[in-house]
Amino acid sequence: MHCPFCSADETKVIDSRLVAEGGQVRRRRECLTCRERFTTYELAELVMPRVIKQNGSREPFDEDKLRGGFLRALEKRPVSVEDVEKHIGLIKHRLRATGEREIQSRELGELVMAALRALDQVAYVRFASVYRSFQDLSEFRDAIESLEADPSDKV
Ligand SMILES: [Zn+2]
Repeated sequence: MHCPFCSADETKVIDSRLVAEGGQVRRRRECLTCRERFTTYELAELVMPRVIKQNGSREPFDEDKLRGGFLRALEKRPVSVEDVEKHIGLIKHRLRATGEREIQSRELGELVMAALRALDQVAYVRFASVYRSFQDLSEFRDAIESLEADPSDKV
């Protein structure tokens, strides 16, 4: 691992801990030449299932797209990046745990909704209203009411 500041080869690990539910290792490193410190994340490379879209076409799982969906729903909401990353990690874990080579985009959407519901209710309703494209106000009201009925519900 080259130092990102001076490109020296020699860096040493000064701290190492598991993050994202143990799915990643976060390492603090120090460059032996310039003494700058930086962080690396290490994770096992595992094959993610492909996503089957509504129209039947397939596309590779795209973590950035998933993250983008979260961040749009969570815009200006008091949720930490770490919590978002934790849920992205959990979703990826669940996708891999299915052992399926392909999943429906709808299933992925449901996982995102469950995660947002646990993270932030405003973001959940935002995402759900776009994702489920509520047909009318009563569906929207049902979603809100289900939150009110059991606001502590975690998935
Ligand atoms: Zn350096």
